[in-house]
Amino acid sequence: MARINLSDLTKVYGTGGDSVVAVEEVSLSVTDGEFLVLVGPSGCGKSTTLRCIAGLEDVTEGRIQFGERDVTEYQASERDVAMVFQNYALYPHMTVRENIGFGLKLSTSLSSAEIHERVDDVAGTLGISELLSDKPKELSGGQQQRVALGRAIVREPEVFLMDEPLSNLDAKLRSDMRTELQELQEHLGVTTVYVTHDQTEAMAMGDRIAVMDGGILQQVGPPEEVYLDPANEFVADFIGSPSINLFTADVEGATITGPGGFAYELDDSTPLRDRKRVRVGIRPEDIRLVADGTNHADVAVVEPMGNENFCYMRLDDHELTARIAPEQRPEAGDRVAFSFEEGSLYLFDVDDGEALKTKTSEPTESAVEGVR
Ligand code: ADP
Repeated sequence: MARINLSDLTKVYGTGGDSVVAVEEVSLSVTDGEFLVLVGPSGCGKSTTLRCIAGLEDVTEGRIQFGERDVTEYQASERDVAMVFQNYALYPHMTVRENIGFGLKLSTSLSSAEIHERVDDVAGTLGISELLSDKPKELSGGQQQRVALGRAIVREPEVFLMDEPLSNLDAKLRSDMRTELQELQEHLGVTTVYVTHDQTEAMAMGDRIAVMDGGILQQVGPPEEVYLDPANEFVADFIGSPSINLFTADVEGATITGPGGFAYELDDSTPLRDRKRVRVGIRPEDIRLVADGTNHADVAVVEPMGNENFCYMRLDDHELTARIAPEQRPEAGDRVAFSFEEGSLYLFDVDDGEALKTKTSEPTESAVEGVR
């Protein structure tokens, strides 16, 4: 098993005017046995980072280490990694047993009997022992994905690299497979880097998540930390569903005012008063519709989720979403009062998006500087 270390990893595709900086100076450590999820919008450089770790791309600058070994110049075949892709392309003419054992036959000196035994073990772990004589076309999507995983696991690699492995599956199966994959990874204890654009999947699966945007690593941390204490507005906005409510507010003295008559008096411990404007973030679960709320919004749509309702409201032309109790059913067109705790407010710099106050953080130095 191995710790993975990326130091200032940069990957530029092409040269001159046509070049694309896909990954820029990413430094990141994945601890031994950890499940790290790389997450971010399409094109942010997740797959490129993964492909660099796999040895499928030459890096432009920076180093990659597995444990003490610098593998930057190693070929993919010398790195002892196993990859699982979205497109799991099983060999259609081979049985499940042959598909799982094929890599071992090619790349190891194991005897047929040893391969047979390893395949049996892996099939047992994945619960597909009864499928070993079937051909891929006889299998469901979930079963095919298990075979693809089996192909990776059977090699007993130092590192697993997974690129959107569940995105071909339907929602229910995907959620089942998430749990299964997590349990499996924990059981095998193999250091894993998992790429997804789906923040829900990232939050659910990662020991830690690494959020990327525009080739740049924005933040790395346990899911709850990234959610409660995002480094910047991008992270706050990307992580969480429904998304955090964000708007620009004017600051005057202790009062912040925003769209649709939004006004709130900040407490002395939130020292932002010398700023003229600030970006305000409120998570949907932190908004409460209460009769004595001091702010008001117009209800546009209420979506029942069963265990809760999503209430979409408007503050002028800004959407404001609240997650409310299922028995609370305001109607479209209602004007409702709402409130929130100051502790749940997020505040960001209007220019660079840096977090000035989050749900768990004390105000940062630069926020305090605003007062001086
Ligand atoms: P993600 O996995 O986050 O969707 P990628 O790592 O695939 O992002 O891509 C990052 C950026 O690099 C994108 O702008 C993409 O267009 C570009 N890119 C990826 N692969 C290549 C390539 N082989 N040649 C040129 N540009 C590429």
